[in-house]
Formats: sequence, structure tokens, C-alpha cells
Amino acid sequence: MRKKAMPENKDTPEKSNLTRRKFMDRVMLTVAGGAALMLAGTQQAEAKVSKTAAKYRSSPKMGKSCGGCAKYMGNGKCSAVKGTVSKNGYCNLYAAKKAKRGSY
Ligand code: SF4
Repeated sequence: MRKKAMPENKDTPEKSNLTRRKFMDRVMLTVAGGAALMLAGTQQAEAKVSKTAAKYRSSPKMGKSCGGCAKYMGNGKCSAVKGTVSKNGYCNLYAAKKAKRGSY
């Protein structure tokens, strides 16, 4: 007598464990991704230093000012120093903007 092939039971323990494992892998990836995003946001916030730490002053120094600094983002914002800065200010983190090619 020939045995009839049994239909694959999708609820076997092996299948069930595999599904659970995949689910847990996805949960762990999601948690890890969220943690990485939170860490990136925290590091970005910590990247800025206080005006005092940067020795910020509201006047230029030897012709150098925030307006000519690569870190100046406009509208009184700086990517390196916390708070509002003046376009005419200056601090020890000053980094000259790169000259545009072709300009003399
Ligand atoms: S000089 Fe200092 S405060 Fe001004 S834009 Fe540059 S880094 Fe920011």
C-alpha cells in the first residue's frame, strides 16, 4: 500500500520557531536602529559648545568674524557654538570659509 504524501504542516515546531526567530530579529533590528538614531541626535546636540568654552566675543578679531567662518549658518546660527551669534562676532573655533574656485 502506497502512503499518501502528508501536506506540509506549517505549524510544526521548527516552522514556528523560525517565525519567532525572524520576528525577534526584526524587533532587535528596529530597537538597534532606534537607539542608533537617538545616539546620533544626542551626539549632534553635544557637538555644540557654549560661548564661554569657545571664548566667543561679539566683535571681530584681526579681520576674522562669524560672517567669514565656515561654521556660520546664517540668521545668527552657528554649527559649533550654542545660542545666537553675531555675524560680526568671533570665537576660537573660527574656520575660514574656503575660497570659491575661479574667484580672485
Ligand atoms: S567664529 Fe565661532 S561662533 Fe562664529 S561662526 Fe565660527 S565657530 Fe561659530
